[in-house]
Amino acid sequence: MQKIFKYKSSILITKILTRLIKYCNVGAGTNFPGKIGRLIAPDILSYLVNQAKKEIIVVTGTNGKTTTSGFIANILNAAGRKTAHNKKGANMLTGLTSAIIQECNQNTELNVDHCLLEIDEAYFCKAVDEFNPNLLVITNLFRDQLDRYGELDTTARKIKEAIAKTITKKPLKVILNADDPIVSSITQGKNVENIYFGFRNIIFVGQDTDIKSPQEAASCKCGQKYNYSKIFYGHLGHYNCTCGISRPKPDIEADVKIDVSSSTITVFSQKYGEFKVKLNMPGLYNAYNALASISACLELGISVKEIIQGLENYSTIFGRAELTYLKGKPTLIQLIKNPIGATEVLRTVKDDKTSKLLIIINDDYADGRDVSWLWDANFELLFGHEKQIITSGIRAADMAVRLKYAGINQNNLKIIKNIDNAVKYSLLNLQTDEKLCILPTYTALLQLQKILKKY
Ligand SMILES: [Zn+2]
Repeated sequence: MQKIFKYKSSILITKILTRLIKYCNVGAGTNFPGKIGRLIAPDILSYLVNQAKKEIIVVTGTNGKTTTSGFIANILNAAGRKTAHNKKGANMLTGLTSAIIQECNQNTELNVDHCLLEIDEAYFCKAVDEFNPNLLVITNLFRDQLDRYGELDTTARKIKEAIAKTITKKPLKVILNADDPIVSSITQGKNVENIYFGFRNIIFVGQDTDIKSPQEAASCKCGQKYNYSKIFYGHLGHYNCTCGISRPKPDIEADVKIDVSSSTITVFSQKYGEFKVKLNMPGLYNAYNALASISACLELGISVKEIIQGLENYSTIFGRAELTYLKGKPTLIQLIKNPIGATEVLRTVKDDKTSKLLIIINDDYADGRDVSWLWDANFELLFGHEKQIITSGIRAADMAVRLKYAGINQNNLKIIKNIDNAVKYSLLNLQTDEKLCILPTYTALLQLQKILKKY
C-alpha cells in the first residue's frame, strides 16, 4: 500500500515539476524532475518500464541513437503499437525517468505495448539494474567525449557487462552493426541472439567520394590492425584479420544510394525478402540509422509495408537534420558532437553550395569539456566553401582558429559569441538563394531550441 503511495507521489511531483519548468521557460526540464521523482521512489523507472506488454527496446551506441529510436518509434506508430519513448533524447537515468513518467496516468499505469529507450552508452550498465531489455540495438562505437567516457574499449567493456547482467526468459536479441568491428564482436554467449545489419555497396551520387572520415584505430582482439576491402566511414566497412576474424555476414544487408538530401536503401534478407525504402534525410550516417531501425522492427514482427510507411513519413527530430523555416528562410540544423559524426555532417554541407554556415561550439559537461575533438573532425572539407561561416558559442574563438587552420578564407569568417545575436545576424544577411545551415553541439542545440521559439 505504502509503495503505491510512493509511486503516485513520485509521478505527480515529477509531472508538476516538468510543467513548471516548461511554463517558466527555464530549461528543457528533461533531467531535474526525474531526479526528484527517483528520490521519492527509487524504483519508479523499473516499476513503469516493466509494465510494457511487449518488448522493452533499448537503443545505445555513440552516434545516431536519437534518430534510430525516432525511426523505430515512427514505424511502431505506423504499425499501431503504443510506445513510451524518451523522444527528447535525454538518455541518462534521470532523463529516462522524467520521460517515461510523462506517459503514465495517475493510477501509475503505463498502458503501452513497448518501452523504447535511447540510453547513453555509459549509463546502459546502470539501467540494466532497473530493467532488462528484450531487444537491444547498438548503432556504432566511436570515440566520443573522451574526458567523460575514457577509451573506446572501456565503453565496449561496459556494454558487455550490461549484456551479461541482463536476465531474460528468452535469449536477448541484439541488433548489431556488422560493419563496425568493435560492435560486431561485443556479444557472445548462449543468452544472446545476434542479428547483424550492414551495407554491401554504397554509392554516392554526384559527390566526391575520395574524402575519407578520420580513421580511428580499430584493432582485432589478437592485437593486429584490421585489413579493409571497403571503408565506408570511420572504422566502418568490410574488414578482416589474418587471425581469421572477419566481418560477420549480415542477416539484414543493404545497398544504398546517397544523394545530397536523400537516400535510397535496398534491403536484402533471406528471411524477409528484398525491398526498397526512400529516406528523406541526408548522409550515410542516417542510412545506417535507418538500416538499424529496419532490422529492429523486422525482429519485432512489423511488416515490410509498415516499416516503409514509418520511415518514409518520418519527420525529423529537432536538430537532427531538420529543415525548418526561420522568418521564411530555409534553415537546416544538424547536431555535431564528435569527430566522426561531425565529419559526416560536414560532408553533406560541402556538397551543398548554397549553404551559409553557423557553427556553435559549447564545452559544457554534456558537450564534453575537451574541445580537442574539433582538431580530429575533418573541417578541411570546408576548404573552398564560398559562403560566409559564422562561429558562435562558448568556444566560438577556438572554432574560428580551427577553420583558419583548415584553410578557410579569413574574409569569410565571423565570430559572434552570443548565440542569439549570431542567429539574428545570420538570418538578416541571408540571400534569397541561400540556406542557413546550423551545426551546434548538444547544449548549444538546447539553447538554440529556446531561442528559435521566438521566431
Ligand atoms: Zn585478429
